[in-house]
Amino acid sequence: MTYERKVRLPVGYVEGGKNYREVVLRPLTGRALLEVRSKIGERVDPSLFTDILRFTVVRVEGCPEPFKPEQMFFVDADFVFYELARWDHEMMGEPMRVHRRCMECGQAVKFELKEENITVRMLEDTEWGKYPDLMIPFRLRVPITTLDPDGTPYDTGKLRLLTLGDEVEKFKRFGDAPGRLWAETVRLMIGQLGPKPYGAIFTADLEALPAFELRRIEAIYAQNLPGVIAPTELVCPACLRSSAVQPAIMWVPDFLLLPSGGSAWPSSSGA
Ligand SMILES: [Zn+2]
Repeated sequence: MTYERKVRLPVGYVEGGKNYREVVLRPLTGRALLEVRSKIGERVDPSLFTDILRFTVVRVEGCPEPFKPEQMFFVDADFVFYELARWDHEMMGEPMRVHRRCMECGQAVKFELKEENITVRMLEDTEWGKYPDLMIPFRLRVPITTLDPDGTPYDTGKLRLLTLGDEVEKFKRFGDAPGRLWAETVRLMIGQLGPKPYGAIFTADLEALPAFELRRIEAIYAQNLPGVIAPTELVCPACLRSSAVQPAIMWVPDFLLLPSGGSAWPSSSGA
């Protein structure tokens, strides 16, 4: 089996300060699928996301170093999962369908996902694309004075995009503690705070910030986030009304791991 497909990533794979936008994919083989599925138990082992990329990304076009799945931005990994799911359904000659209970009529139905329901937002169309370092500068409303022993007030920082490795680590460490998970997510989003670079910023540093600053940081991050935007509402085939899709669509559990038409796992990893 040698068929491959080249796709353009919404953000790009960064290696040695260079951004590589194209990756070549191959479909998941039966053997790879079995290996990945063996990680679904009572809880989902988040490293199966890394495994899927290891099995399906043949190469990063033009990149001299071997591909490291953890290094890929999470939004790009999500895009690769979407492309694999779409490709799979093309090969099967079936439309993509997601199994949910309709919030309007209460019936368990299969909602059809059409291309027109899905948007892929590229880096260039977002705030992130304005900055070559892929970090969005922000300014705090209330300066933080606890970053150094002198109490120097700092009010600038930068946001960074989370990688797949960040997401996997985060769920391994705090998957059972939603509060800690949220704090860790915000910490990972901050690429620079005052004089401190990413890696030197700890949760304790953020505890001094007013809660509204943390929520602002989260909001700036989420605004115009690149990548695949799945629909949050779809038309129910039974009652023909527009119904909220809950839980939100996730490409891996909804389309890549389960038999066609299966229902999503009881996931706790929804964003
Ligand atoms: Zn309905």
